[in-house]
Amino acid sequence: MTFRASVITLYPEMFPGPLGISLAGKALADGAWSLETVALREFGTGKHRQVDDTPAGGGAGMVLRADVLAAAIDSIGEEAENAERPRLLMSPRGRPLDQAFVRELAEGLGAVIVCGRFEGIDERVIEARGLTEVSIGDYVLSGGEPAAIVLLDAIVRLLPGVMGNDQSGTHESFETGLLEHPHYTRPAEWEGRTIPEVLTSGDHGKVERWRREQAKRLTAERRPDLMPGGQVRGGEK
Ligand code: SAM
Repeated sequence: MTFRASVITLYPEMFPGPLGISLAGKALADGAWSLETVALREFGTGKHRQVDDTPAGGGAGMVLRADVLAAAIDSIGEEAENAERPRLLMSPRGRPLDQAFVRELAEGLGAVIVCGRFEGIDERVIEARGLTEVSIGDYVLSGGEPAAIVLLDAIVRLLPGVMGNDQSGTHESFETGLLEHPHYTRPAEWEGRTIPEVLTSGDHGKVERWRREQAKRLTAERRPDLMPGGQVRGGEK
């Protein structure tokens, strides 16, 4: 089963972009996942294939039209495998993207990803086509494309066989609920700085314990909200 990504965008030329190189690019070339872009402009109306219009009620900027977006989404078809793929809208108002959600998506058949532009998209298409809004962070990008690339990069590296060493994902930040421990490599001494002795001791048990302690220490220092019983903005965890 290949993970299938369909990206609806005004700028198909932004894809695969960074997803075409390194790990994700090799996986794409090897068929571990597939990527199609749906060019929103082709569904625009009138001579100029207009995709946006002024906001109802007035105000600055433009809004992507519901009818244009719906036509693009519907062009993907309703076959069983498409119906089972979640429809996501990249949006700063969305569900914050985290590793658990990335993993959930990576275990599925794929995703249809809508990239917003301008002030955003007509609310009615979000409801009518069942779009789940997903945010990559509390900041505003100029378009959903970089957010879709971030989302797909995070998903693709978790697909079966994509990471060389299948163990390499399991210790990473967020996979254990903690941030990852520090890494070191050769040379043993660099600019007067040495590698912690335990890492060269050859005692795997000690190394594991040290890594767990470091992960806890870093998480407590940098992201206390991730610690058991940690506080998150707006209340108790
Ligand atoms: N007016 C919108 C608001 O205040 O929520 C921002 C629109 S933004 C300029 C244009 C598009 O970029 C959005 O429709 C969305 O697709 C994308 N975008 C911007 N920030 C994002 C984020 N943090 N996560 C995911 N997508 C984002």
